[in-house]
Amino acid sequence: MRILTGGFSHESNSFNPIITGEDDFAVFRGGGIAENSVFSRHSSAGIAETLKKGGAEIVPTVLARAVPNGVVSASFYRKIKAELLDRAREALKQGPVHGVCLALHGSMKVEGDICAEEDLCGALREILPRVPFTAALDMHAAITPALLEAVDAFAAYKTAPHTDSYETGVLAAEMLLKTLNTGKKLYTARVRVPMMIAGEKSETAAEPMSSLIAACRELEKPAPARPAMLAASLLLGFPWADCEYNAVTVLVSAFEEDKAVADRAARELAEEFWRRRGEFNFHTEYYNSTEAIAAAFAAVQRGEQPVFVSDSGDNPTAGAAGDATELLEAILAAMDQTDRLPGPLLYSGFYDEPAAAACLKAGEGAELDITLGGNWDKINGKKIPLRVGVKKIVSDYGPYHSVLALLSCRNILISVTSKHIGFGDGGLLPALGINAAEYPLVVVKLGYLEPCFRNIAGRAIMATSRGCSNEILETIPYKKLRRPLYPLDKDMDWQPD
Ligand SMILES: [Zn+2]
Repeated sequence: MRILTGGFSHESNSFNPIITGEDDFAVFRGGGIAENSVFSRHSSAGIAETLKKGGAEIVPTVLARAVPNGVVSASFYRKIKAELLDRAREALKQGPVHGVCLALHGSMKVEGDICAEEDLCGALREILPRVPFTAALDMHAAITPALLEAVDAFAAYKTAPHTDSYETGVLAAEMLLKTLNTGKKLYTARVRVPMMIAGEKSETAAEPMSSLIAACRELEKPAPARPAMLAASLLLGFPWADCEYNAVTVLVSAFEEDKAVADRAARELAEEFWRRRGEFNFHTEYYNSTEAIAAAFAAVQRGEQPVFVSDSGDNPTAGAAGDATELLEAILAAMDQTDRLPGPLLYSGFYDEPAAAACLKAGEGAELDITLGGNWDKINGKKIPLRVGVKKIVSDYGPYHSVLALLSCRNILISVTSKHIGFGDGGLLPALGINAAEYPLVVVKLGYLEPCFRNIAGRAIMATSRGCSNEILETIPYKKLRRPLYPLDKDMDWQPD
């Protein structure tokens, strides 16, 4: 059995003016996909290892991934798409291809309003019109009719924060192996639920997601009165992309012979999701930026340190620019209190290529004048002039080869990256010699805290700051979303067709 694999994934925030290009992506080609150990917990690795275990011969194409950011450059997208399709045609020349399994996101947008996944999978479908085709998706996928047309079955993450990417790849590959081994056709039931959920209201450890996800897992097990579904997934859409098909979608993939069960299960899940719509709330205490900083100072005084404050409106892992400055301005405005903290306030951090370059050039130990922020998000940020000391430089960090700089400014320590890599990665601060647990107040450009921070936080506060990942969806100026949509249209009613 020869199976075509590969992936192209990105979460594209259409409010962020940055165009995500070649420089932002890590790309692996052909056999190089298997050799990369950087993404060993990604769905692509789960797919490859499961297919191998199942005795399949893997025909790898291209794997390209970038950190969430603004929409993807059209020329880069076309280049990777062409490579992937060329490799598929080449594979066909060398022998039959029996199936396709891709690692995707589901909310990748390309300049010119292109939904990448439907375009890519549709083009691949033309080359391989009849073989079974499965895909692994992120939970924040926005499902379009054309994507459903191209792909037979889907598995999506069941955790937020996302800790089951690998397992999702395993499930996508298992579905493909099952259909190939049994000869039974795949089918996916779909129900669109006209809802949009702010990322930080959908943590899967909390209700209502916890029991909704548990219901998906139940469906994947056989029950006395019904067969097991191959995969049951809740796709929440991506609130920071203004596009027609953004909404919650329930997908239940099964063998075609179980179509009626899958249809009923998807409908029931969708009804339950809708019934519980009022329960999606923030699980972390939240305030505007000024109030969040004041609450954090008070919490430090009560000894609840390390106190974490999420700069949630400018969360690069939700595709925001990473250089909005509202929260930094709130901290600077309260500098007398910041200076009196029992240790430095740690701010991780800023995506600021010019500042990182200037600090790299000046070197460790130097003092210099820089501006921080406001290079990209000029609506929610401005260039803040600061006199800083360069405490530490890392010249080549991680799979995206970013410069890291640790800067000091009075009683503040700030991490700065030259690449848009976000601040949710537990390795970034240790690479700068920093143990966040030792600081009284830690500000991170994140929404919900990733486990590396949550596990050490004495108190977690979310600042609903301004930025391209604004958590208050009712205030976002959407133009293309299909309405009505809850909670933007609060009093709307809905029933599945
Ligand atoms: Zn996601």
